[in-house]
Amino acid sequence: MGRHAKDMSPSGADRWVNCAGSVPLSAGLHDETSRYAAEGSCAHEVAALSLTQNTPAAVCIGRVFYDIPVTAQMTEHVEFYVQAVRDHLTHPSDDLHIEVEVPITPITGEADAVGTADAVVLSYVNQEITVIDLKYGRGLRVEAEQNLQLIIYALAMLELYGAIVEWRTVRLVIVQPRAGVVREWSITVEELGTYAKTISLAAERVRQAQREGAADYLNPGEKQCQWCRAKATCPALTAQVLADVPEVPVVTVTTEIAHLLPRIDLIEIWCKALRVEATRRLVAGIPVPGFKLIEGKKGHRAWEKDALVEALLKSMRLKQAQMYQFKLISPTQAEKLLKDQPKRWATLQAHITQKPGDPDLVPVSDRHPALTRVVSSSEFQPITT
Ligand code: SF4
Repeated sequence: MGRHAKDMSPSGADRWVNCAGSVPLSAGLHDETSRYAAEGSCAHEVAALSLTQNTPAAVCIGRVFYDIPVTAQMTEHVEFYVQAVRDHLTHPSDDLHIEVEVPITPITGEADAVGTADAVVLSYVNQEITVIDLKYGRGLRVEAEQNLQLIIYALAMLELYGAIVEWRTVRLVIVQPRAGVVREWSITVEELGTYAKTISLAAERVRQAQREGAADYLNPGEKQCQWCRAKATCPALTAQVLADVPEVPVVTVTTEIAHLLPRIDLIEIWCKALRVEATRRLVAGIPVPGFKLIEGKKGHRAWEKDALVEALLKSMRLKQAQMYQFKLISPTQAEKLLKDQPKRWATLQAHITQKPGDPDLVPVSDRHPALTRVVSSSEFQPITT
């Protein structure tokens, strides 16, 4: 196999397809590898082991991958993903591929490039290819619909296996265990061809931007700037953010708020990027006039060695009930425990309460129905405008 796609990776497709200039502009910039990224890699490792060895994810508790120890909570999240993958195996002849390396060169034209799909199910009976992706992050919602990363994997699988079966449909699946959601989108192989053309044209624009320089190929937008390494120093993003602000200096009426709302996500992305970049420079010893670094909020306190403290507490004659906390299992844990006993689970279900989610502000184009709950006056102060 080749090397991992560098300039036009499937995971960066939202960026380079929408902003060709981002490829030359971010070339050579340091990619921050955060603890979150390492956690994600660790969870992927556990998931792959669990699926390939057909063992519970919990057998990995205590092992360390990418400097991250596997916790019981992580294995619960991984089990959620593993179950979602298994749910897509519907026929004995279904063929499951884990961490499958797929050639990306036929899709983007980048020489000798490969990508890695988390899981792919080839269903010969249904003539369907299912691409499943684990998103371990807690924060951002990831859609399956029109997901360019998964579309590229699907196109690559069609290149690999197109000759042996006449595939009819492709199913894209995003699993976000920490949000407890599985999102799916199905598309015909014919319709997928449109995306192949879009991606191929975008790749051509990237090559033009690489030859001619980024300036004429920058296109700021929330989707593309979010994960761009150049966002702290990108002239187009800075110009767009600063151009937006003075238009409405005082926000008082609803129309002004509505005018500004579509812009704030991009502005927030830019503000955060500036803070990160200033911090990075100060850590590296580069002065940022008027600013310095101080120690931030300390982490939670924890015992260095549990066994040692247990022995000490016992020597202090503390009772077990004082030393340990016993907690009732949660509804999620109970559901898992009783998954083969639906009647018992149904009895318990009647005793679950769940607070409704807080109102979430989204554009009217969002596919979720508008909230009709009447918000009590104690939650929000009445306004006069
Ligand atoms: S910050 Fe946004 S506009 Fe600038 S290069 Fe990156 S993706 Fe393009």
